[in-house]
Amino acid sequence: MSASYDVVVIGGGIQGAGVAQAAAVRGYRTLLLEQQTLAAGTSSRSTKLVHGGLRYLESGRIRLVRESLREREILLRIAPELVVRQDFFIPLYASSRRTAGHVHAGLWLYRLLAGGSVGGFERIPAREWERLDGLETAGLKAVFRYGDAQTDDVALTHAVARSAAEFGAEIRVGTRFVGAERVGEGYEVRSVREGVVATCETRALVNATGPWAAQTLSRVLPGPPRLPHDLVAGTHIITEGALGKSCYYVEAPSDHRGVFILPWRGRVLTGTTERLYVGDPGLVAPTPEEITYLQVTLAAYFPGLSTVVAESFAGLRVLPKSQGDLNGRSREVVLLADAPRPRLISIFGGKLTGYRRTAEQVMERLGLVLPARVPRADTSRLRLPMG
Ligand SMILES: Cc1cc2nc3c(=O)[nH]c(=O)nc-3n(C[C@H](O)[C@H](O)[C@H](O)COP(=O)(O)OP(=O)(O)OC[C@H]3O[C@@H](n4cnc5c(N)ncnc54)[C@H](O)[C@@H]3O)c2cc1C
Repeated sequence: MSASYDVVVIGGGIQGAGVAQAAAVRGYRTLLLEQQTLAAGTSSRSTKLVHGGLRYLESGRIRLVRESLREREILLRIAPELVVRQDFFIPLYASSRRTAGHVHAGLWLYRLLAGGSVGGFERIPAREWERLDGLETAGLKAVFRYGDAQTDDVALTHAVARSAAEFGAEIRVGTRFVGAERVGEGYEVRSVREGVVATCETRALVNATGPWAAQTLSRVLPGPPRLPHDLVAGTHIITEGALGKSCYYVEAPSDHRGVFILPWRGRVLTGTTERLYVGDPGLVAPTPEEITYLQVTLAAYFPGLSTVVAESFAGLRVLPKSQGDLNGRSREVVLLADAPRPRLISIFGGKLTGYRRTAEQVMERLGLVLPARVPRADTSRLRLPMG
């Protein structure tokens, strides 16, 4: 007889780990399948920020920013070793597209939406510009400081998965989902590990395979609804040199896109780019043009730092199709269900920062078909276990 679960989650990135945790704390028999290792996909290739997303204010995504800022507060509380407050600096030059008034208004709104948490913001007097890690001062007109948070995306994913396991979830890495078929009040699920096929039954299935989401849906019978979307690659480079503890949010000289320059494990992380990607999600890699774009940006702001690339990596955003340029597209998560009383939910897009809330939303919807249980914990208060 095959094993039986309440919830089977496919994908061991931050979203899959989050859903496994949310399901397990509610007392559901939960299984998570990950084809490689935890956080092998996008969840190890992010900018590693837990933030509201200041730039989303420019495209009017007030709700997204407010919710993300709320999640930032929760993560600062439940994972203080993994999510740390940082000072972010925005330098403005004669050549910058954004004006001091524009940035001041944005930061004012950001603080308002955050409810005054993680400090406020300030304009840094010119006499203090020298302490800013060798920031280029030629043509510098103004510098603003605000507060946000940095994390380690891989460690965060592991901590959430560990918490899920502590509440009884089975986490199976190196196990690929290969198909599911609707049977009775749920799905029969097939997976493969080291060439051996295993079958199990579940009342509900969650597709948390990020950029592989469409591929995963193509293996489900009968064919569930699809969501037209694009995969958008983003590259980061890691270079030698140190930045102290400060983070910088700058405009790329060539197109004025926002780029972060951040301290990362004693080196410097610069990212990111945006490029449409078509192909196998597992093969996404930085292009020479993206690397040059980031090197040029780094050199423009920190001429004293090395631009020799020690490491580079690319990840894929899942952006539902819409009008407008990639930069202005919605970053809100979309939950796609197979029916009004869902047995299968697919997670498209979203942010590392919002994983916990997304998981709660998934479980609320699955609550329509799963037996009622008394939750054993509240994930907004549950301290994440360290390794
Ligand atoms: C360049 C970039 C920068 C970003 N920066 C930030 C940031 O600073 N802050 C922020 O909040 N968000 C950021 N994001 C967004 C965030 O990184 C993603 O939303 C998040 O990591 C997506 O997680 P996920 O679990 O949906 O997908 P993934 O992490 O990709 O996980 C999907 C998993 O599914 C597995 N899988 C696929 N197919 C199968 C199968 N058949 N069987 C079993 N397992 C399977 C994969 O191996 C993978 O581990 C960034 C995104 C990008 C691309």
